[in-house]
Amino acid sequence: MFIDARTLPDRTSLDSDLAIIGGGPAGITLARAFARSGIRVVLAEAGGLEGDADVQALYQGENAGIDYPLDGARLRFLGGSSNHWGGYCRPLDPIDFEQRDWVPYSGWPFGIDELLPYYPQASEIVEVAPGRYDDTDYWRRTTGETIPEPVTQRMRLQFVHFSPPTHFGTRYGPELKQADNIRVLLNANVVEIKADADATRAEQLDIRTLTGLRHRVSARFFVVATGGLENARMLLLSNSVVPAGLGNRHDLVGRFFMEHPHMVGFGEIVTADLARVARIFRERVKAGERSAQVAFNPSESFLRKRRLLNATFMAGVAGEYRSDAKVPPAEPHKAAAHMDMLRASRRFLADGEGLLKPDDPDYIGLWLGIGCACEQVPDPDSRVSLSDHRDALELPKIRLDWRLGEQDRRSVVEHMQSLALEFAALGMGRMILHVEDDGLWPKAVNGGSHHMGTTRMSDDPKQGVVDRQCRVHGMENLYVAGSSVFPTSGSANPTLTLVALALRLAGHLKERFQ
Ligand SMILES: Cc1cc2nc3c(=O)[nH]c(=O)nc-3n(C[C@H](O)[C@H](O)[C@H](O)COP(=O)(O)OP(=O)(O)OC[C@H]3O[C@@H](n4cnc5c(N)ncnc54)[C@H](O)[C@@H]3O)c2cc1C
Repeated sequence: MFIDARTLPDRTSLDSDLAIIGGGPAGITLARAFARSGIRVVLAEAGGLEGDADVQALYQGENAGIDYPLDGARLRFLGGSSNHWGGYCRPLDPIDFEQRDWVPYSGWPFGIDELLPYYPQASEIVEVAPGRYDDTDYWRRTTGETIPEPVTQRMRLQFVHFSPPTHFGTRYGPELKQADNIRVLLNANVVEIKADADATRAEQLDIRTLTGLRHRVSARFFVVATGGLENARMLLLSNSVVPAGLGNRHDLVGRFFMEHPHMVGFGEIVTADLARVARIFRERVKAGERSAQVAFNPSESFLRKRRLLNATFMAGVAGEYRSDAKVPPAEPHKAAAHMDMLRASRRFLADGEGLLKPDDPDYIGLWLGIGCACEQVPDPDSRVSLSDHRDALELPKIRLDWRLGEQDRRSVVEHMQSLALEFAALGMGRMILHVEDDGLWPKAVNGGSHHMGTTRMSDDPKQGVVDRQCRVHGMENLYVAGSSVFPTSGSANPTLTLVALALRLAGHLKERFQ
């Protein structure tokens, strides 16, 4: 059932068994897992069924580090940021779970085996199943594409899958609306999780509407699922019993914020012969109802040998070069270098086999842009905290201090060089690298709207905010769902993994209800 919190009498109290804060992919996945279970669920969602400027403004905040669009990188209504996500899906890699001695604070309390049982169902939920994330034979067979194996040992291929993209609110909202045991409370901003006197049990949610009403929700178990930035803010705002906020005994809530630094323009591939770059290497290719594209990832052995961070690279056709020197107007300064490279590339491919001979005699070749999403080192000083400014609900706004370091930069540079070697070795083209340009780092680095690490998972309460079951350390019945629990981020887009984690958490909570 859907209830608009603005239509309830002021100071309504709702009783439930499970209270979920936030109706994005994490919260909706969790609620769906309890549909028709007999367990009474309340899902409190800050927004309505569509975006609203006043509600969205509650996401505005302050930047102290690398400039970051705190408002633009997320959406505050049912479905959360899935209302405008890109739909790129891929599981984390096994190495992402390891404690690596060259990556400070790295490692999950468990290995990928713990999540493998949940990835197939998570793939169904984001509508990319069956997941064929590293099955080159499958993609060869189903698409008829020539997909060469990497030759340098530095890189390996994976297949990023594209969700339609699933908008969780519109796709799964009707199911929640029909479930007798689920009440979705819309336009219900949770402003505090109230705990008992010694802050070991969550007891109720305090809710406010922008129209000035105040409500309460009590439950046996509570899950914070407000997104990777807001999860930390929610715990910090819950400070009427413990001034530092819930779960913050060791000053960890909000620390270790990680993004996937995205870099475009750090390198380009020029190729005289597009036929040598299989279509699935440069664009989405459909197989049945599903589509995928090749991602280049560093091989595990190379990561270990060179002590690097994980990364993902994808290519896309960005422009065409012709002998009359017509080049994409946005990049005229790169024209001469590109033309030289293309001529060399044509000589390089002059064995003739498969060389593309377009009808137009002016044709020289193509330019492929490279997009790169990288892992960043967990850094306690890269963090979310509360600002001195207040929002329309009189709550301190979010303050983000996103930081990147030299290890992050060095890793990208080396991976780009590897990619250049790989493309040349595969005979696909040559790369021009700009990675050492001083002006690019970190100015030309963007985030991918992936918010991770701010309530990190660890078995040790001094190292993490939640335990391996996503339960807040020191609290009996308070859990966190979403990518804020990732202690290390890998380079895969986070949503598939956070949906898998939400399914795992649902299983754990069902056991606790027994
Ligand atoms: C432009 C863009 C592109 C993206 N592309 C990709 C991609 O290609 N692949 C990928 O894997 N990921 C992508 N992402 C990230 C993806 O959207 C997130 O990983 C995912 O939405 C996180 O799910 P969540 O449920 O944890 O949080 P959210 O989606 O942030 O949902 C949180 C929910 O909580 C609600 N809420 C917040 N505060 C409160 C409160 N105080 N009280 C009650 N409710 C509250 C919000 O309204 C929202 O509905 C992208 C994100 C953006 C913005």
